[in-house]
Amino acid sequence: MYPGSFDPPTLGHLDVITRSAQLFDEVIVAVAINSQKRPLFTLQERTEMLEQCCQHLPNVRVLALEGLLVAFAQQIGACAIVRGLRAVSDFEYEFQMATMNRQLAPEIDTCFLMTHQQYAFLSSSMVKEVARLGGDVRAFVPEVVAQRLSQKFHPKGAGVPSPTDES
Ligand code: ADP
Repeated sequence: MYPGSFDPPTLGHLDVITRSAQLFDEVIVAVAINSQKRPLFTLQERTEMLEQCCQHLPNVRVLALEGLLVAFAQQIGACAIVRGLRAVSDFEYEFQMATMNRQLAPEIDTCFLMTHQQYAFLSSSMVKEVARLGGDVRAFVPEVVAQRLSQKFHPKGAGVPSPTDES
């Protein structure tokens, strides 16, 4: 199971999903309803975007993550929790969470996958900021996500270069 906020999904997330799909028989991408974060996209929007991005991966399914992470993992019979590691900054928080989850459910291991170096500094929050200010985010997110970001921030199409724009 690969849990996260995915607000929105980036090419970094997709890289981790693709690697997981090669390692495990089945991968459940679990989209979190995090009460401490105010997401830009609704749970349904995040789920839809992930489903579209993972269409080509037959052993990947997308579900909404309800309640405690390890309880949900146990409920769906997951053998491991996958998390992505970017730069050193991710380590401390991920280490804390993995240790807590191991205390709560010792039978489920956390498995860390390193993203491709190209995506090592990519985060959903940075993508949102660039998109909000009208920057082109197509190098960082799948096309469907770029479109949704553009609709969210620039509903009339202003500020976001079109694919044919040469400037
Ligand atoms: P969360 O709120 O659970 O941190 P995120 O959607 O931000 O949710 O991230 C989900 C997981 O994906 C985390 O393990 C995070 O470290 C990882 N991740 C996020 N961005 C990237 C990236 N660019 N490359 C690799 N892993 C990433």
